[in-house]
Amino acid sequence: MSFKSLGLSEPLLKAIAKKGYETPSPIQAKAIPPVLEGKDVLASAQTGTGKTAGFTLPLLHFLSENPKQKYRPIRALILTPTRELAAQIFANVREYSEFLNIKSAVIFGGVNQKPQVAAIRQGIDVLVATPGRLIDLESQGLLSIKRVEVFVLDEADRMLDMGFLRDIERVMKLMPAKRQNLMFSATFSKAIKKLAYSILNNPVQIEA
Ligand code: AMP
Repeated sequence: MSFKSLGLSEPLLKAIAKKGYETPSPIQAKAIPPVLEGKDVLASAQTGTGKTAGFTLPLLHFLSENPKQKYRPIRALILTPTRELAAQIFANVREYSEFLNIKSAVIFGGVNQKPQVAAIRQGIDVLVATPGRLIDLESQGLLSIKRVEVFVLDEADRMLDMGFLRDIERVMKLMPAKRQNLMFSATFSKAIKKLAYSILNNPVQIEA
C-alpha cells in the first residue's frame, strides 16, 4: 500500500514525501479512499494514529482538483475542541498544502481576534476552528461558512465532554445542507451515536 496507490495528486505526494511518511497508517488507508469518493465517513480513531492526515490529505485533494474561480469562499471547515488541536491541525494543513494553491487559517479563543480576522480576509479555502470563536466571529459578520463543501468534526467525544453540543448544532445550521461530512471520535457513547446520526448521511464506518 502506498500513498500514490490511494489516488492522491502529485503535489500532495510531494508534501507527504517531504514529511518523510513512507506508507499510509491503517486509518489513512481506510479513510482516504471513501473521502476521495465524496462519501461521509464515521471513524473511530485515537490521537497518534495519523487521523489528521487521514482527513486532511483527501480534503485538500478534493479542493485542489475542483477549484473555485474568481472568489474564495471557505470551502472546508475543520472543527476541533481545543486550541492546541486547532494549532496542530492547522500546521498539518499548511504543510500538506505547500505545493497546492490552497489557503488556510486557524481561529480559537483566548487570544486577540484581529490577526485571525485579517488572515480570513485574505481569502481562505480551509478554516480550522474551535466552536466558540467560530460562532463569535460568524455572529459579528466577520466570516461565513455558508459555502462549506466539506465539514470535519474532530474528536467528537471530547467536544461533547467539553459541553460543545449546542455550539456544534449552531454551526451545522450555518452550513449548506448539501456537503460532505467526516466525523472522528475515540469513543462511541449513545450521545456520540446520536450526534453522528444527526450529522452524517449514510456514512462509511471505519476503525483505526
Ligand atoms: P495524528 O494522529 O494525526 O495526530 O498523527 C500522529 C503523528 O503521526 C504525527 O506526528 C504525524 O506527523 C505522524 N504521521 C501521520 N501519518 C504518518 C505516516 N503515514 N507515516 C509516518 N508518520 C505519520
